[in-house]
Amino acid sequence: MMGPTAVIDLSALRHNLQRAAALAPGSRLYAVIKANAYGHGLLRAARAFSDADALAVARVEEAVQLRLAGIDHPLLVLEGFFNAEELEAASHYQLEVAIQQPEQLQILSEHSIGRPVTCWLKMDTGMHRLGFQPDAVDAAWKFLNAHASVAKGVRVMTHLASADDLSNPVTNDQLRLFRVHADQLNTVTSIANSAGIIGWPTSRTDWARPGIMLYGASPMLGRTGVSEGLRPAMTLKSRIIAINSFAKGSPIGYSGSWVCPEDMRVAVVAAGYGDGYPRHAPPGTPVLLNKQRVPLIGRVSMDMLNLDLRTQPEVRVGDEVVLWGEGLAVEEVAERAGTIAYELFCGVTQRVVFEEING
Ligand SMILES: *Cc1c(COP(=O)(O)O)cnc(C)c1O
Repeated sequence: MMGPTAVIDLSALRHNLQRAAALAPGSRLYAVIKANAYGHGLLRAARAFSDADALAVARVEEAVQLRLAGIDHPLLVLEGFFNAEELEAASHYQLEVAIQQPEQLQILSEHSIGRPVTCWLKMDTGMHRLGFQPDAVDAAWKFLNAHASVAKGVRVMTHLASADDLSNPVTNDQLRLFRVHADQLNTVTSIANSAGIIGWPTSRTDWARPGIMLYGASPMLGRTGVSEGLRPAMTLKSRIIAINSFAKGSPIGYSGSWVCPEDMRVAVVAAGYGDGYPRHAPPGTPVLLNKQRVPLIGRVSMDMLNLDLRTQPEVRVGDEVVLWGEGLAVEEVAERAGTIAYELFCGVTQRVVFEEING
């Protein structure tokens, strides 16, 4: 096969879950598998995380897909329901839901459901995305606790906005604000995402919600998964499909923006933005070729990218390259391309063949 393959290391997924558990020994874990498990495959990840206390996704349809495939773990829908049908599905499939806006309380009051649903009341402590403002929490709390469709034991959660940056004081403000309210409610709580688990001990409460770290990438600024004791779960590989020699001054690829500084050999790799490799990766972005770092040159095109072979006289057509993963941190490629590991993972396209190892 000459096109790109995403090799998913199931033992790395299991290892990273254990690592999260070891970092937050007092917390139970929701393994977050939204967005097709950050591009790793929803069911594949759900099965690899069978030791997790619970699973979490963003949307009801992701949760229903898991239930229909026979996944019977506790399952939290992080955005909750948005209409009566979704509330009905949450009840039918026994999904836990986040309650984050008054419209959801309205839906609850207008529709009766078969079985009560477990609710997490979400408080906005500074992320300013989803959640009740602190002064609206008490009313929502009272409403939920009095409602027949809501399972006993309403819980509270919040989400951290800047926990990837250890020097940002906002996180402590969020933690303090949450504690003031949660202490009064005296219930089960959840705060930490991966960055909380890694960097903010007081965010490790009853339940934590690791996502990115389970796939082997660090959310922390300037750090890599390997430095956190994580293992890359996805290695994106492809092969060299052509090698050409060009004279000094020859432009390479679209727009000819990269020009050969001397007579040199250039390799063409079968991987481009049509596979999810970032088009904004600039010349100099490393690719691993026979375990050595080789710089990308020219613009990334849809199906191909070019490599500078000046340091690689032995390379042949058919040789394998690693675009990120084992031996080459996805965070490094992401940073070069002006993005984050999350986006690279989620962006791997349908055309890429997935392969599992260490099942
Ligand atoms: C996606 C998400 C997480 C997981 O975040 P990571 O940074 O990937 O660990 C946790 N909680 C909520 C509410 C989320 O949306």
